[in-house]
Amino acid sequence: MMTALPVTLADIEQAAARIEGRVQHTPFVMSATLSERCGVPVGLKLEHQQATGSFKLRGATNAVLSLSPEERVRGVVAASTGNHGRALAYAAKAEGSVATICMSRLVPDNKVSEIRRLGADVRIVGRSQDEAQVEVGRLVAEDGLVMVPPFDNAAVVAGQGTLGLEIVAAMPDVAAVLVPLSGGGLAAGVAAAVKGRLPQARIIGLTMERGAAMKASLDAGRPVQVEEVPSLADSLGGGIGLDNAVTFQMCRALLDDVILLSEAEIAAGMRHAYTHEREVVEGAGAVGIAALLSGRLGRLDGPVAVILSGRNVDMGLHRQVLNGEGKPFGEDAA
Ligand SMILES: *Cc1c(COP(=O)(O)O)cnc(C)c1O
Repeated sequence: MMTALPVTLADIEQAAARIEGRVQHTPFVMSATLSERCGVPVGLKLEHQQATGSFKLRGATNAVLSLSPEERVRGVVAASTGNHGRALAYAAKAEGSVATICMSRLVPDNKVSEIRRLGADVRIVGRSQDEAQVEVGRLVAEDGLVMVPPFDNAAVVAGQGTLGLEIVAAMPDVAAVLVPLSGGGLAAGVAAAVKGRLPQARIIGLTMERGAAMKASLDAGRPVQVEEVPSLADSLGGGIGLDNAVTFQMCRALLDDVILLSEAEIAAGMRHAYTHEREVVEGAGAVGIAALLSGRLGRLDGPVAVILSGRNVDMGLHRQVLNGEGKPFGEDAA
């Protein structure tokens, strides 16, 4: 059944060989406090320590390395201003290609300069993400650039899946993997890798309560649009695409559960990561810890692996969260 899916264990093993030496095998460490609290061994995959500050470098690097020599010369393009944009800029430069990142005039200067610093050709167009995306389409059609989307792409999913292989190597008896979930590239890849090796392992997607597009789509049985709301887990925002071709069907087939977390729970996850594990993680990177602390996972019956997926958080906001000051994005019902 799994061979019918767009990305298989074999694709992920090939991706791992392809990106070997170009991305870090990030540390996997046991958490004494979470293990004690949960009554099962809990290990943390410190993927926020990856170059560019998130796992997105794995998928971007695999996608760039999968290009033909001609395509590599023409370059890659995307409209992401977040972790995918960072990763694609870095990966393209590292492989002797160039990334063009399109963004709207409303994107703050610090984000623009950061992506430029990573070697991208930044193109500022229009007043919205949609207009930036139109420019991406034009560059693909007229200049032959290759679009590398943030999640709905087989090479990207296979690259993210390499994280799953490293988790199984570090924790061969893992019973459940907690994966941050937005467009589902990370969850699809990790699930295909982990279940390919350990069919009994459970894969649980974690996302924020508000604006959870994959959860709404899984519930509806087809990709649906949701209203986007600001969240501490800003890297989990955005839709999955109404014409989703890869990640929706993979998440539907491979995820055992999706759990939604409140803003207060995500803040608690970030605080725990810093105070007890000495790690700075962004909201999206803290949802796994947040889920363990929330008690929403129910009974755990074996070793758990938690992916800390990113660290790109404004340090002023991080400090605010640590101090429990204010409620950055309003409070919720939890
Ligand atoms: C992109 C991202 C996610 C979600 O990944 P998807 O593949 O879109 O589900 C989670 N955490 C961080 C830090 C990210 O940058």
